[in-house]
Amino acid sequence: MDPSTDPDPESAPGPDEASPGLFDDLLSGEPIFENKEVLRPSYTPRRLPHREEQINNMATILVTALRGDTPSNILIYGKTGTGKTASAKFVSDELETTSQKYEVPCEVQYINCEVTDTQYRVLAQLANKFIDENVAYITEELERLDARRDDLDDGTASIEETAFDDREALDTRIENLEADREEFEPVPMTGWPTDRVYSTFFEAVDYRERVVVIMLDEIDKLVEKSGDDTLYNLSRMNSELENSRVSIMGISNDLKFTDFLDPRVKSSLGEEEIVFPPYDATQLRDILQHRSDIAFKPDTLSEDVIPLCAAFAAQEHGDARRALDLLRTAGELAERDRTENIHEEHVRRAQEKIELDRVVEVVRTLPTQSKLVLYAVILLEENGVHNINTGEVFNIYKRLCAEIDMDVLTQRRVTDLISELDMLGIVNAVVVSKGRYGRTKEMSLSVPLDETKSVLLADSRLGEVEDAQPFVQARFDDS
Ligand code: ADP
Ligand code: MG
Repeated sequence: MDPSTDPDPESAPGPDEASPGLFDDLLSGEPIFENKEVLRPSYTPRRLPHREEQINNMATILVTALRGDTPSNILIYGKTGTGKTASAKFVSDELETTSQKYEVPCEVQYINCEVTDTQYRVLAQLANKFIDENVAYITEELERLDARRDDLDDGTASIEETAFDDREALDTRIENLEADREEFEPVPMTGWPTDRVYSTFFEAVDYRERVVVIMLDEIDKLVEKSGDDTLYNLSRMNSELENSRVSIMGISNDLKFTDFLDPRVKSSLGEEEIVFPPYDATQLRDILQHRSDIAFKPDTLSEDVIPLCAAFAAQEHGDARRALDLLRTAGELAERDRTENIHEEHVRRAQEKIELDRVVEVVRTLPTQSKLVLYAVILLEENGVHNINTGEVFNIYKRLCAEIDMDVLTQRRVTDLISELDMLGIVNAVVVSKGRYGRTKEMSLSVPLDETKSVLLADSRLGEVEDAQPFVQARFDDS
């Protein structure tokens, strides 16, 4: 369309154009959110109610770093959403700010081990970080010394005013720094032997005097994926470092992860332990109240909204992340309804939506065999079978396997897969005694049938058995 012609508001949109007003409509009406970002997990709050004790404990241990000594290693435990990451980031910001104020060389390196999950990657990330810092430091130092040399050359300064004995010493220092800068070679993403990555990190961190706190968040994921070598290597560094000191702060969602550690690593890492207990409903209310004041326009929340979000999240092992998700999702649903207030009903719908999203994600990522077992349960339920037993599931499952050319697992294995589905909260299975016929499992689906079925059928392999009706009928002939 020629943009210079005045568009006729009455004309129907062409086939390739959005209908007019698609966004106008949505933009009209009072927005509910003042600042939605505040409710997202990426936001780091400046105030963390009900974590004063844990934050003080961390600070008491880490203050050693500001005195130039090595703080004890710290291990932090707690379930998801108990404020571990938020508190640790808060403390590390404060530590760095204070160290700048007093000009003490102390820094924190944060690594999320869910993302950076191998020894190579952890060491490479640390090495490159310190290489960058060293190069920046050297460059600054060289600029300063070059200016000094110029001053000497044109007679605006004398050698006595510098920290050098003579001109030659200054030249040597400049040459050395230039050589150092040349030597720092960044670690590539892959390809080096691990000991080379380690020694590169070692030299980079030891280049200058400093105390470094290495924060390894989700440390249990690192150990699960790649063992405890990284922790072993990091925890014994101090005995060899000359200029710098390293202290480790590990954060774990899994309370039992130290069981898998080498005893030496375990005792070194757990010098100090801080536990983050789950929040109760009252504490969650405070947290939500504080955030909602910034997140929403004034007077948008009806008074039962925050207590209900808090109550739901308290049931979910006191997870503050869930509480904030609920509040944000409730706000989004209210916005979609074009109402100006959030009501209890929005929170209930938000709870359902989040729960369903979780189920969809869990089902979508199941292994194909488990998907087939689950699909067998669904087909039985659809046909009105109650108290479905393992044998019935197994019969349907076998037919489904034949249909799509999958290997058939033993009934034993299928029983195990059913237990896994039970643990994930997808089916509810109970063991019942059949008298002299032994025991069997009886199960029912605990997730919404239609949504679950469509997630299963979206799998390219299962999609092929969409028309499975005949097998279910055949089940009755079999038994
Ligand atoms: P964890 O690391 O223990 O899984 P997070 O620190 O990521 O938990 O916290 C989850 C969410 O809840 C984040 O958005 C965080 O900002 C918020 N949160 C947790 N505890 C508090 C608190 N005491 N005050 C305010 N917000 C909190
Ligand atoms: Mg965390």
